[in-house]
Parts: sequence; C-alpha cells; structure tokens
Amino acid sequence: MSTKSKDAPTKALEENLVKAERYLTRFKAAPVRHLIAGEPVASVKGGSLETLCPVDNTVLAKVAAGGAADIDAAARAAAAAFPAWRAISGAKRRAILHEIADAIEARAEEIALVESMDTGQPVRYMSKAALRGAENYRFFADRAPGAADGLSLPDTDHVNYTMRQPIGPVGIITPWNTPLMLSTWKIAPALAAGCTIVHKPAEWSPLSATLLNEIMDGVIRKNGLPGGVVNMVHGLGEDAGKALTEHPLIKAIGFVGDSRTGSLIMAQGAATLKRVHFELGGKNPVIVFDDADLDKALDAVLFMIYSLNGERCTSSSRALVQKSIYEGFTAKLTERVKKIKVGHPLDPATEIGPLIHPNHVDKVLSFPAAASKEGARIACGGGRALGGMGNFVEPTLYLDAKSGMRIAQEEIFGPALAVLPFADEAEALSIANDVRYGLTGYIWTGDVGRAHRMARDLEAGMIWVNSENVRHLPTPFGGMKASGIGRDGGDYSFDFYMETKNIAVAYGTHKVPKVGA
Ligand code: NAD
Repeated sequence: MSTKSKDAPTKALEENLVKAERYLTRFKAAPVRHLIAGEPVASVKGGSLETLCPVDNTVLAKVAAGGAADIDAAARAAAAAFPAWRAISGAKRRAILHEIADAIEARAEEIALVESMDTGQPVRYMSKAALRGAENYRFFADRAPGAADGLSLPDTDHVNYTMRQPIGPVGIITPWNTPLMLSTWKIAPALAAGCTIVHKPAEWSPLSATLLNEIMDGVIRKNGLPGGVVNMVHGLGEDAGKALTEHPLIKAIGFVGDSRTGSLIMAQGAATLKRVHFELGGKNPVIVFDDADLDKALDAVLFMIYSLNGERCTSSSRALVQKSIYEGFTAKLTERVKKIKVGHPLDPATEIGPLIHPNHVDKVLSFPAAASKEGARIACGGGRALGGMGNFVEPTLYLDAKSGMRIAQEEIFGPALAVLPFADEAEALSIANDVRYGLTGYIWTGDVGRAHRMARDLEAGMIWVNSENVRHLPTPFGGMKASGIGRDGGDYSFDFYMETKNIAVAYGTHKVPKVGA
C-alpha cells in the first residue's frame, strides 16, 4: 500500500493545503453559529461542540450546540416564512433555485476543500460533490412550476381534480458522509415544493452545511423573501435532532442516517403524527457470475466499496463471487486492494482518506478480530494505516466469508469488503437476501434472462445490472426492509413534501339525499 502522503507532500497537496487553510480561517476564528430567520445566532443555552479534522483529530472549529429552544426558534422562523415562500410562483422558485445552484458552483472549490478536511473524504471525490449538489437544485428548479399540478378525474355527476400543496415547514436531518450532497438531495425538492426548512446537520461534519445554508439564505433574501425560508440548527442528535422531530410546527422529517436512528425518529415523531421519509443503512451485495465481463466487474467491485472511504450507504460491502471463478477473481482483487493509496484527503492521488472520527475507527476496527474468530480469512488490511496517525485505516479484504458472520451482516461503513462464494443462482439469491437491509444490489452477468430474474427477486430498492452506482435524478432512490421508507427523486420527492388535495365539483345533475325533509 502506498503511504504517499507520509512522504514529501506533492505540489498539488501543498496547494490544496494552503487553499484549505484560507477557507477554514473563518471557522477557526469564531464559533460556528446556527442560522435562524436569516441571522447567525449562538445557542440559547450557550455551549458548543468541536468538529475534528480526521487527518490528526485537531479541532477545526467550535460549533454551537443547539437544543430545544433553538429548534423552537428555527421552527417558528420556518413557519413565519412559509406563507411568503409558498405564495411565489413556480417560475420564481425555479429562478431562485437556479441562482442557488450558480452560487454553489461558484464556491465549489471552497466547499470541496472544507468538506474534505471536515470528513476525511478524498478531494478526488469531493471536488464533484458541490457540482452534483448544484445539479440537484437545477433538476428540481425545472420541476418547481409543475409541482402543484394534479389530475382531472371526471365522473357522471362530478369533476374531480387534484392539486398538490407544500406540506409546510419541514425538518431535514443529515449524516456525516458526503454531507453536502445528501443535504442538497433533501433540501432542493423541499424548497422546490414550496416548503420552508429547518436543517439539523450531523455533528461530526457541520462545516459544509454551514456554507450551504449561508449560500441559500443569501440568494433567497436577495430575491426579496424573508429570512427563515432556510434555517439551520447545529447540535447533537439526542438534543437538537430529537427536538426537531418532536416540534409541532414541523410537518415532516426527511432523514438520512442509521436505521436505529430511524426507529427513534419514528417514535419521537409519533405524538405529532410526523410524516417521515427515511434513507437508512445498507449491506449491499455485488453478485459476480462466471459469465460476466470479469475485468469490468472487478473494477466495479473495487470502486463501490473502496471509494469515499467505504462510508457510503450504497457501497457494495458484500461481494458474492461464483465458485467457478472464485480463486482467480479474489487473487486479482487482493492484488488491487494492496495497491490502494491511503493518504491525505487533499492529495488528488489519495484513494482512501482518514475515517470521520476516532469512535468510527474503533467500530470499523472491531471487525477483523470478530471475522478471524468466525472463520473468515483477512487477505489484507485489518489495522491502522500511516503509522497510526489520525483516523487512517488500511483497506481491508475478508475472504471466504459466510452469511451468518458479523462482517456479512452488519454495516461496517468503512473500506472493508467481505467476499462470499456461491455455487449457483439460487444460492446467490438466498445469500444476497439474507440481511436485514435492502438498499441496493449489483448484478454482473452475461445472461440477460438471469439479470432480469435476479433483479426481480433481490430484496432491494435499487438494482444495477453490469453497472456501478450511476445516478439518474428522475428515478426513485430509496431502500426496502431496514434501509428506508419512501423514495427520493423526481415526482417521488414532491409526493413527500406536498399534500395531495382532491376537489370535487358537481355538474349539478345529481340529487342530494334529503335528511329531515
Ligand atoms: P446517524 O443516524 O447516527 O446520524 C444521522 C443524523 O441523525 C445526525 O444529524 C444525528 O445528529 C441525527 N440524530 C441522531 N440521533 C437522533 C435522534 N434521536 N433524533 C433525531 N436525530 C438524531 O447516522 P450517521 O452515523 O451520521 O450516518 C451514517 C448512516 O447513514 C449509515 O447507516 C448510512 O448507511 C446511512 N446513510 C444512508 C443513506 C441512504 O441514502 N440510504 C445515505 C447516506 C447515509
């Protein structure tokens, strides 16, 4: 494994470090505050959290620790701004959302470098995050004018028509992995639908959310709308997050995170009958049959677990490989994993950066011992990388895994792949479905009939055949089983952020039943 960034820094890394330092100065200089009704504010109760740089766990910034009082202020601001935001035309909303996309793109470098330093995710992937985030606004911007349109449903006596209306102020709760992208994915459709928002970003990666909310608020207010269309409250999940899910003015919660947190949110939101939309964990299979294009399949297997530090909900963390090709395929896999470059996240050559937080490193490194005990073989990795510095871990490859093992059941959420052999289609399907999750599945085969059969029978919300995770914005994104409730993308997002209303108008031809006549 290369330890490139332990050696002399490359010129590109040096340049990125200088730029990142400049962008981070403001966060280091003063505590990061909430954004409520267009104003940066400290927590009502005071107090702050620290966000750490995963490279060496030094403090990047102090961040306001929000609680119920801050959420209340933000929810009231979102409710106060709702009538004005709802009232503007779809065309105006479209223009504003495109302007937000322009503003994100203009600060793409700043967002990428800040997010890389806050999360440890390599800049080679993060540099595209802002652009993909901006694309989310553009996609939903163009759909904003038609979002309210409904159907006409005539019968003999009535014409029924439906319309969609924004549900009201909504809460958006996001995780620390690719935080900007995932936030835009939730916030863009909510704004396009006409909802105002209170955003509670993850406590381990609050900085790019701060930039994003600042950008959105600036554009929205420049267009003559009140502060409060977008609000952001930092803080812990059990404080600010919980208060948001319980607030009566908040009509729905769009949540991305752990499946256990999803259960908590459902319980917390029950008293106020919250509508919920969950994108949760995954333990996704990539299934490689012996008739597949094996070179391409190998590239895809590697990319879908060892990119973005493996901290990715759609990562294929279980590779199911047909026994007839198992030896050859896993030998090549091992060779490639050993060559993966672990290094500083701002080095463009880096393929795996440090994991988000020391607690997460402990979780990821709890698996090798369990795997050995249960009988899997560790082909490479399993420990800390770069001499134990910061949160760097080695990319890990577990071979000869079996479905009941922890490495084959639990979401490790790091650069660790469990490989399981299978004999035939029936066994592949049975192993693939033998987990509590059901987010994605990847199938590699040259047999078109088998591709369709497997795609039909895999218990997952999204299937890619002979492809890795390529996103197409109008298509539904979401999971089955413990991986989620609801779908994002295209009209599916509007269904969540809007109420559908039916209006029946009589032609005047029917008789109203008489009571008391
Ligand atoms: P997490 O559930 O610990 O935290 C996510 C957010 O929820 C954070 O903002 C946190 O503060 C908040 N939170 C925690 N407890 C809460 C509570 N009781 N009430 C309200 N909010 C609360 O998840 P994480 O560790 O930040 O993120 C990793 C998880 O996210 C993984 O399981 C991953 O698979 C999942 N994820 C899923 C998708 C998807 O699209 N399916 C995408 C990305 C990440």
